[in-house]
Amino acid sequence: MIVPLIDTDLFTWMRDIRRTLHRFPELAYKEVETSALIAAELDKLGISFQQGLAGGTGIRAEIDGGNGQGPCVALRADMDGLPITEETGLPFSSIRPGVMHACGHDGHVAMLLGAAALLKNMDLTGKIVLLFQPGEESGNGAAAMLEDHALAGVDMIFSAHIDTHYPVGRITVDEGLICSYTDPFTIAIHGSGGHAARPHEAVDSVVVAANLVMNMQTLVSRRINPTHAAVVTVGRLEAGTVHNVIAEHALLEGTVRSADRETRERILSGLERVIRGIADMCNAEIQLKFFDGLPAVVNDPWATVLARNAALTVVGEEGVISQGAPSLGGEDFSFYQQLIPGCMVRFGGLKKKDAAGPAHSARFDFDEELFKHGTNWLVQVARQSLEALNPLKGVD
Ligand SMILES: [Zn+2]
Ligand SMILES: [Zn+2]
Repeated sequence: MIVPLIDTDLFTWMRDIRRTLHRFPELAYKEVETSALIAAELDKLGISFQQGLAGGTGIRAEIDGGNGQGPCVALRADMDGLPITEETGLPFSSIRPGVMHACGHDGHVAMLLGAAALLKNMDLTGKIVLLFQPGEESGNGAAAMLEDHALAGVDMIFSAHIDTHYPVGRITVDEGLICSYTDPFTIAIHGSGGHAARPHEAVDSVVVAANLVMNMQTLVSRRINPTHAAVVTVGRLEAGTVHNVIAEHALLEGTVRSADRETRERILSGLERVIRGIADMCNAEIQLKFFDGLPAVVNDPWATVLARNAALTVVGEEGVISQGAPSLGGEDFSFYQQLIPGCMVRFGGLKKKDAAGPAHSARFDFDEELFKHGTNWLVQVARQSLEALNPLKGVD
């Protein structure tokens, strides 16, 4: 059963916003036009907001139905694109080579604005905070939003991600861990250069790097409980200049993903040990640096009950499903959940089979029909949570 809430006008308005954002995508922390578009639409809706958060492009809007009384629930949308050149051939394709909305954040913004338009005209028993967050794909925009007090006074937070693994009309709701710990790293290897024919006079960074990459793989296969999920991936390896010169330096970039704290610690300390051992063995200097790590997304039990009830209202029993095993993808929504209870769900958005590529690919696209369920869920979860939280306010 689907609650009819989104009329054709609202749907078309959201779709147009999505397509405009899609045509003009912007990378993390550079969402200047995106932020201006959101501000202009909020202005038209008569919703008050604060601009300039999280380095400049973040927005925090408020719909206060409780006149300063009652609980406060936040809804969050991310808004950055990815450094990918679009190959979908869509009529509203990105006009910017090397930048593309390949993760659906254009849709997230459109739906949050749609929810704002609806919530603004509803009787609310508290306050709703709308967070438009930059830099989800890189730079941990959620953490930057928190530095600017995005969650001040907020009791609970919800978000959703479009997911083309599932058809339109499905919403995944899961308690507990849904996205893993993410620990990106760089490894800089400093050997010493020399003639390709005289390796004994040099320290070959290519051989050191090869040793490292192979040994790192044993961390997951030999150091981690096989029933616990973990990944170590080296996504980039750069060394040398020409075929007959031994490379003095090498640079590796990679990421560690892990589904629980203990596994994470075992891999990170294991990585340090492997590096020390190989540095010693090869007589090279190796520096390991972690950056922009993310905690795991762990859905709070009560927030998950509220998210599930809202999903049942919107798509009925048959539409509410589980994502199954936790994803080893990262999501900076986890930063909000470290402060207050929160729940993140996924909206099914599969286009006709084989019509589009996966998320983070140059052919990614989703079925815009999902806006009907998605926007409805945002509205329902916000309203129902305010009601559920209400009796708790004012009780000491
Ligand atoms: Zn993404
Ligand atoms: Zn995303």
